[in-house]
Amino acid sequence: MKNETKDGAALLSYFEDNRADILQFMQWLVEQESMSREAEATARIARNLGDRLSEMGARVDLFSDLRFGATLRARFEHAGVPAPFRAPPLEDKQLLVVGHLDTVWPLGTLAARPFRIEEDRAYGPGIFDMKSGVTIAVFAMRALRDMGRSPQRPVTFLMTCDEETGSLFSREVIEEEGRASHAALIIEPPIPGGLLKTARKGVGEFELIVRGRSAHAGNDPRAGISAITELAHQILAVNAMNDYERGTTLNVGVVRGGILSNVIAAEARASIDMRFQTVEEGERITEAIRSLQPTLDGARLEVLGGINRQPLVRTKEVASLFEHARALAAEIGYDLQEGSVGGGSDGNLIAALGVGVLDGLGVDGAGAHAEHEHILISDIPRRATLLARLIETV
Ligand SMILES: [Zn+2]
Repeated sequence: MKNETKDGAALLSYFEDNRADILQFMQWLVEQESMSREAEATARIARNLGDRLSEMGARVDLFSDLRFGATLRARFEHAGVPAPFRAPPLEDKQLLVVGHLDTVWPLGTLAARPFRIEEDRAYGPGIFDMKSGVTIAVFAMRALRDMGRSPQRPVTFLMTCDEETGSLFSREVIEEEGRASHAALIIEPPIPGGLLKTARKGVGEFELIVRGRSAHAGNDPRAGISAITELAHQILAVNAMNDYERGTTLNVGVVRGGILSNVIAAEARASIDMRFQTVEEGERITEAIRSLQPTLDGARLEVLGGINRQPLVRTKEVASLFEHARALAAEIGYDLQEGSVGGGSDGNLIAALGVGVLDGLGVDGAGAHAEHEHILISDIPRRATLLARLIETV
């Protein structure tokens, strides 16, 4: 009979013993800056990581794009690789492990904020979101190989290059791999405290364009229609759609308009971010934004954009994956918790296909997209153990 507790404990000590190697690998990833849409940089890190995964016996493919760089896919399944990665029967759907190699940090950030360790914290641009997650995924596969243990299914890694800018390029391959998967493990950072993300809001992005008529502000003010004044009315109308009880939020994050103070503005624009909890609510608010009406006579509105990512809803597939993860965590005395967040990820795209998704499996820490971004070094062994056990058992 399998001794479950022993399974977790052996992995835990493997990761404790290999802590220095794991940190070195993480540093290696952090020191390859890879801001989203810096195509050369994101292609380089994908190539370099691909080389490492090839050495481990994976079949690696890169999907390249001139604007976004390269997304990496690695399949641990083909014949001729060491025993743990030999292909299981063909009817078995794969297990997908999804991460991203792009960050929000401009090239040069590393010089100002290099990788560094202070007591239990490791700092560096992109370390929490999500180069530490990528690292533990690599070491989870390495541990299973080194210990002669096998994943339950063929495993595919997908490491994208454009998650931070909406996955416009990678979406196609994400959805294709998602459809071929039994479940997807997303190595995004957890909620600080280590909570998995079993629900994420959906995301919409809109551009509201207001057109009026220009006129001399001193000589002929009444001949003009101010697009800026009209936009001010529209911003208040958009703000009025906020519904915190329902989890619906809208933010006018950027406004532009006009040319000079003595000219009545002919055009003004606003960029709007929308978050919502259910597909129906997303449709309702989208319709409301598209139906905005001008307040000033003669002003015209145009709305571009729409829903970018559907919500990751805590379906029964998601709930049962979480319960499974919770039981695996308990093997090593780790009380795993869950929560919901407003931010979207590539997990949303896969969940929308009806596939079970477990998100937030990265290393605990804080400061995603912020200057104090860091991970907790002491959390690495148990998160790597949890991930390896999931890969082994899902
Ligand atoms: Zn991320």
